Amino acid sequence: MLKGKTALVTGSTSGIGLGIAKALARQGANIVLNGFGDVEGPKAEIAALGVKVAYHGADMSKPAEIEEMMKYAAAQFGRVDILVNNAGIQHVARIEDFPTERWDAIIAINLTSAFHATRLALPAMQQANWGRIINVASAHGLVASAEKSAYVASKHGIVGLTKVTALENATSGVTCNAICPGWVLTPLVQKQVDAKAAAHKVSNEEAKKLLLGEKEPSMQFTTPDELGELAVFFCSAAGNNVRGVAWNMDGGWVAQ
Ligand code: NAD
Repeated sequence: MLKGKTALVTGSTSGIGLGIAKALARQGANIVLNGFGDVEGPKAEIAALGVKVAYHGADMSKPAEIEEMMKYAAAQFGRVDILVNNAGIQHVARIEDFPTERWDAIIAINLTSAFHATRLALPAMQQANWGRIINVASAHGLVASAEKSAYVASKHGIVGLTKVTALENATSGVTCNAICPGWVLTPLVQKQVDAKAAAHKVSNEEAKKLLLGEKEPSMQFTTPDELGELAVFFCSAAGNNVRGVAWNMDGGWVAQ
């Protein structure tokens, strides 16, 4: 379905980003990976799906590096048809204790980076009259939790950016939508499981149940593969007129 298209997925060396990159690759899209840590493993996983894969290590908190990455992606494969703004970080603390540099980093990586990547990707998409921008927000883009001020602000912000991007391109073949996962068991959430296990002096398995029990009626983690399939839907012809939605995949979290 996506043969000949190019997808750039930020923060795709791990977790949800890698899951989405693999789902798009399974549909034939060439992939540009981004993120820190092990690069060769994710590159090999994508190449094994029979598509071309490239990597750029831009730090998404640095606008100049985002600009270089967008130029690199276009030079590799012609243009970016699908942009997935996924890179994100978390920090948990009450507002009065929140380290100001953590606030700045979360807003830069979770929100401002999406603005830069989007503004740089749009002109080629508009010229081709086809494009998909998918922002990975969160259930925290729709509702709040205590001790996550920067994260909740960034995710509500990216839901707003999603709507504006969708509206400004509403008469074209360029769509923009957000995915709002509940708990997904990635390194980002494992840290919170570990913190809960330590705080309550319980096992890892019990800490996972505590975490799920607070928010998710389904008592199940959403998986990167499931989120990848939602991204594939947004890229499909059936998604042509889906514009500006913030679609939760959250085990019933925000239905409560
Ligand atoms: P993760 O920690 O597994 O992956 C984060 C990715 O972002 C990694 O590839 C990492 O290298 C990259 N990254 C971090 N800082 C970066 C930077 N400055 N520049 C470039 N890349 C950077 O986390 P995840 O759980 O897969 O999270 C991915 C997205 O999904 C985030 O936006 C997160 O907020 C969102 N999300 C996660 C959950 C969850 O439960 N895990 C729920 C809702 C939303």
